Amino acid sequence: MKCYECVRSGRDSEAVAVCRLCGAAVCTDHVRTEPVQLRGTAQPGKVIHDQPARQLTCVVCRAAEESP
Ligand SMILES: [Zn+2]
Ligand SMILES: [Zn+2]
Repeated sequence: MKCYECVRSGRDSEAVAVCRLCGAAVCTDHVRTEPVQLRGTAQPGKVIHDQPARQLTCVVCRAAEESP
C-alpha cells in the first residue's frame, strides 16, 4: 500500500502504518506517534504500572487533534 499523503503530492512511498482515525495509509515521513494512557492518571507518589499505549495517526488527524 502507498502512503496517502505522498500519493496526493505526486510521490510514491510505501506505507508503514495506518491512521487509526481516518484509515489513511502513511509512510514514515507522514506517520505521527503519540503515547496514550489508556486508563488511570499519573499521580505524585504513586507508581503507575500501566504501560503507555501507542497511537498512530496521520499528519492531518494529528494537526486536527492539536488545534483547539
Ligand atoms: Zn508519505
Ligand atoms: Zn488520519
